[in-house]
Amino acid sequence: MTTATLFNYSYSPTPVRHSGPAPAGLRRVVIVGGGTAGWMTALILARALIDRGVEITLLESPTVGIIGVGEGSTPWLRGFFDSLGIEESEWMPACHATYKCGITFEGWSTRPGFEKYFHPFASMLDNLTMRQFVHNVEARINGADVYAHPDRFFIATRLAASRRAPKPHESFPFDVWHGYHFDAVLLGQFLQKKAVARGVHYHPCHVTHANLAEDGSIASVATREGETIAADLFVDCSGFAALLIEKALHTPYVSFANNLFNDAAVALPSPIDGRIPSQTVSTALQHGWAWKIPLTSRYGNGYVYSTQFCSPDSAEEELRQHLGLMDAEVPARHLKMRIGRVAQHWNKNCLAVGLSQGFIEPLEATALLFIQQTATTFVEFLEQGDLGEAAHARFNDMANAHFEGIRDYIVTHYKTNTRGDTEYWRANAANLNLSDDLKKLYSLWMAGKSIAPGVGQQVIGRGYPVFSWYALMAGMGIFPDQPALRAPTAQEARYNMAEIDNLLDRSVTNYPPHATALENIAPRRTEPSLQIYFW
Ligand SMILES: Cc1cc2nc3c(=O)[nH]c(=O)nc-3n(C[C@H](O)[C@H](O)[C@H](O)COP(=O)(O)OP(=O)(O)OC[C@H]3O[C@@H](n4cnc5c(N)ncnc54)[C@H](O)[C@@H]3O)c2cc1C
Repeated sequence: MTTATLFNYSYSPTPVRHSGPAPAGLRRVVIVGGGTAGWMTALILARALIDRGVEITLLESPTVGIIGVGEGSTPWLRGFFDSLGIEESEWMPACHATYKCGITFEGWSTRPGFEKYFHPFASMLDNLTMRQFVHNVEARINGADVYAHPDRFFIATRLAASRRAPKPHESFPFDVWHGYHFDAVLLGQFLQKKAVARGVHYHPCHVTHANLAEDGSIASVATREGETIAADLFVDCSGFAALLIEKALHTPYVSFANNLFNDAAVALPSPIDGRIPSQTVSTALQHGWAWKIPLTSRYGNGYVYSTQFCSPDSAEEELRQHLGLMDAEVPARHLKMRIGRVAQHWNKNCLAVGLSQGFIEPLEATALLFIQQTATTFVEFLEQGDLGEAAHARFNDMANAHFEGIRDYIVTHYKTNTRGDTEYWRANAANLNLSDDLKKLYSLWMAGKSIAPGVGQQVIGRGYPVFSWYALMAGMGIFPDQPALRAPTAQEARYNMAEIDNLLDRSVTNYPPHATALENIAPRRTEPSLQIYFW
């Protein structure tokens, strides 16, 4: 058994050295935008810079609102709060937050037995079942009739199915690396309060344009209120407007529209009652998919679709039907999305963070992770005094690889669909705009070979860990058809599913039965190691 890092690319909070002088030439930072990206970045920069005399000011337009969606996270958000010393018991109730063990995908595949599957967040208990899962999947790709649906192998799946919290009792040492659901507006307000308390200046004003210096960097921004605000570093958190990185610096934009067709969304809340679930549900509809995110106060719902195939009115009607809200008075919010990324996330003295740097549709709720990763990595570069052109290039290569790794993981959900009920799903299945890495991965899988080394070495490994790729491909049922399967050899059939069921049945009772009851929100325990023994 070898040790594999859970995520091939680590985002764990790095200890920041607060001592010593501020990085050379950095006295004043201006962040434009007060959405989640602006405030998360403000907190990450404040932790590293304010004690060393750097002034951080966040400018926010009084007339342009935040996007106000984005209510699911990956487990990395836990690292964000932990690194700032903010307890779950403080922020979760303030943001109506719930725990998230992973995502159920419903209706993406029509292959018998694979009509739905759960993409679990990892747990330390997975060390006891991962080997069996990967073994069975690889046997089944090679034609053996063994059980290989991911749903019976992981504790997070059991927790979600029984609406439990991923918080084991004190005596049970297997932590689950969980994410969260939260109210986006409340999260923004919470982060703003924290950032201001930690010394970030908040200045409401509408930025009209940037003034460039002779070397093409940004010298200052001008506001509608008549001010000119100078800084050494500008952080563009202005959302899809991309005021600084694109409008001022003309950084090229790389569209992913040929890979991912969805470009719009419609969102609607619905009431929540009873026992709150601990998972997001993503249900494939006619021209996209619907999210269902449980908060303590409501469900957040939305339909992400492609305007090439469906009008906003039809999308809203289909979503209302799906939710049983045809006659409800609740107004829907319609949003446009731009899918792709800028070529340089750090260009001259401007760092783009959040929707301004790019966006991949929210299927796996990865946008906050990009924000956290971009700001944290930038601080690491600052700490190393690494600010030259080579550093810019290295930073941008890393960010681009991360975007592309995640893009390819999301593309695979669409590429492997078998619905065929609408032109939208047929076009997705037939789409040949695939990266070379993705083509290689599919070829290995179809040839019955392990994809683990490939994922680890290639850009796709920057987005998702190996086990997520196995969960996705196996969950969608990418195996030889049932009639073509043969009896397994003794080696292929060496793992007994009843033993795995038994282990997980016994384990699940060590997690509390209510997903988000306040008593489950306990002070932080010793952090679990991110090193997970996979295979
Ligand atoms: C449909 C949808 C669903 C999503 N779901 C998820 C999810 O589940 N999980 C996830 O992680 N992410 C999700 N996201 C992405 C997530 O919403 C964003 O990444 C996150 O909210 C950060 O947005 P932002 O701060 O970059 O931009 P915004 O929230 O748009 O904030 C932009 C800020 O810039 C300011 N601004 C704009 N123009 C000016 C100006 N001229 N002068 C001064 N200030 C200005 C605005 O006032 C605002 O404060 C989703 C996105 C969409 C579209």
